[in-house]
Amino acid sequence: MKRKSRVIYVGKVPIGGEYPVVVQSMTNTDTRDVEATVAQIKMLQKAGCEIVRVAVVDQEAARAIRSIKESILIPLVADIHFDYRLALASVAAGADGLRINPGNIGGEDKVREVVRACNDGNVPIRIGVNAGSLDKRLLAKYGQVCAEAMVESAMENIKMLEDLSYTNLKVSLKSSSVMMTIDAYRMLAEKVDYPLHVGITEAGTRERALIKSALGIGMLLYEGIGDTIRVSLTADPVDEVWAAYEILRMLNLRQRGVEVISCPTCGRCEIDLIKTAEKVDKLVRHIEKPLKVAVMGCVVNGPGEAREADLGVAGGRGFGILFKKGEVVKKIPQAALVEELLREIETMNEK
Ligand code: SF4
Repeated sequence: MKRKSRVIYVGKVPIGGEYPVVVQSMTNTDTRDVEATVAQIKMLQKAGCEIVRVAVVDQEAARAIRSIKESILIPLVADIHFDYRLALASVAAGADGLRINPGNIGGEDKVREVVRACNDGNVPIRIGVNAGSLDKRLLAKYGQVCAEAMVESAMENIKMLEDLSYTNLKVSLKSSSVMMTIDAYRMLAEKVDYPLHVGITEAGTRERALIKSALGIGMLLYEGIGDTIRVSLTADPVDEVWAAYEILRMLNLRQRGVEVISCPTCGRCEIDLIKTAEKVDKLVRHIEKPLKVAVMGCVVNGPGEAREADLGVAGGRGFGILFKKGEVVKKIPQAALVEELLREIETMNEK
């Protein structure tokens, strides 16, 4: 069961409570390059991204938020480190949320100013604790980076905002260690009811990060912890959005896009299944409708799986048998298999 958390809004997107887990990503363009940033956000939107974060490195980047926002549909969060003036400028430029740690912006007066601006604009703040940038004092106290130190850092930042009566916030506790991240979120989830933004940070290159994120985010969501997620990949951010939906699908939390099931292949396989499955998986990423497509190597186990799916193929010698909602439709030569299957998927998507 989902942990009980309070609800906040980033733009019009609700986060927390009983609302579905929200999918986020972050651009890797130069935010000052409005055209490139808008182009990437549009791709992310298309992939199902519901909130986007951009790095605000200077005043020019903060000002660019206004122009970026004119061309995009989803709420935008400004990611700021250390400089409270960038937070003020981002809010003034129309940012829907801030990611900033009040503890490292240089004192209470500055925190007060940021809070005032956020209050006026109804802009939530994400406290983003990162294991890689923990306060030296906490490191000295605990002797090393650990979940307890991360939680203490989060609690100190939360207190700073609560002391100013500011509670429009969410919290993240990211580390590149799956177990440390899980421990930290579990501990914090016991202490506060703010919505939690969950992710494994600096997770690594594509495949490694996919495994880490699926495990870390997956375990937490399974325990009901997590109101919004970001899958961090050293790769195209559009892939992050796809991966997030796959994790949510596997946990039966949200359904979006095509689930491609394919067999591991074995000595019975007589078609080039690995290439066929890879092609199909790649070419269906733009489809929003939840569909199950099976790409199976032979007629031993193939037809069974293919029948369970909305669409499926089971390979034979140089051909494939097409199944639709459990019925055999036709026999297709291998050369035309991908094309035919995609045509069928598109038709099903339109219905
Ligand atoms: Fe082997 Fe057929 Fe099973 Fe694929 S579906 S692993 S080819 S038995």
